[in-house]
Amino acid sequence: MRMVRLPDGTEVPALGQGTWHIGDGHRPPAEEAAALRLGIQLGMTLIDTAEMYGEGAAEQVVSAAIAGLRDRVFLVSKVYPHNATRRGTPAACERSLRRLGTDHIDLYLLHWRGGAPLAETVEAFERLRAEGKIRHWGVSNFDTDDMEELLGVPGGALCATNQVLYNPEHRGIEFDLLPWCEGHAMPVMAYSPIGQGGRLLRSAALARVAHRHGATTAQIAIAWSLRHPGVISIPKAGSAEHARENAAALGITLSAEDLAAIDAAYAPPRHKLPLAML
Ligand code: NDP
Repeated sequence: MRMVRLPDGTEVPALGQGTWHIGDGHRPPAEEAAALRLGIQLGMTLIDTAEMYGEGAAEQVVSAAIAGLRDRVFLVSKVYPHNATRRGTPAACERSLRRLGTDHIDLYLLHWRGGAPLAETVEAFERLRAEGKIRHWGVSNFDTDDMEELLGVPGGALCATNQVLYNPEHRGIEFDLLPWCEGHAMPVMAYSPIGQGGRLLRSAALARVAHRHGATTAQIAIAWSLRHPGVISIPKAGSAEHARENAAALGITLSAEDLAAIDAAYAPPRHKLPLAML
């Protein structure tokens, strides 16, 4: 597994697993947990979840998936903005810990910016870190100006990552946010690398590149998201077949010709674009 370094030197896998819509009844939870478990065995040991996903249901499936494997897993969860206050953050964290069946979360993210002052959220995160309930904290859906503001609050520079939408259809971060994060030795965590709901599976341009590699369109989308050394990609797979396929995407290196073909279909940004989010 290729590893990516957090600002404090902790290494995490470049390819992890998402869990949005897991536990929402589309598939039997046991099947979803088995897919996550297989993913862990294949090296995708970073698992991304959130209190929001199925209002706790996804965290419960993750709990089943990591039973007996906790030490091998780098667990990421997120706090709702409306809970991200001085008192709300530790309470939300306790609830997540209970659902996840663990005594610590490896990386706890503010899901998006809300009404709580950033200084309050950071203070709460730092207290949770001192208590050992979380190991790192970060943010999600923060644009460059939000990151600058974060660095201005006490402790804000301890942010470990920013998790944002990133795939060929949404690549505005390449203009400023990705270079900003690289400049601060902070990896970006790319969400929806296959396009939410697998939109990019219908991409003719990605399908042509896939054909050249004897790969699938999903694998090309994942390989594309991973071509930057400072990016962690977290595709969600609800089945063992998809988990296996996604793990194999790590072995694909896109050529200059492949990248040019993708650029021709999905132009790189030429100016600042507001951060896209789901
Ligand atoms: P993805 O880009 O990961 O796409 C997931 C979809 O692709 C599902 O429909 C899945 O189907 C399908 N899929 C996965 N692997 C394959 C494959 N090999 N072949 C064909 N289809 C495949 O979208 P997500 O929006 O789920 O994003 C990934 C993760 O990022 C989320 O699960 C979540 O953890 C995180 N996220 C964070 C957000 C934030 O605000 N911080 C917002 C959105 C996502 P199936 O289920 O059948 O495998």
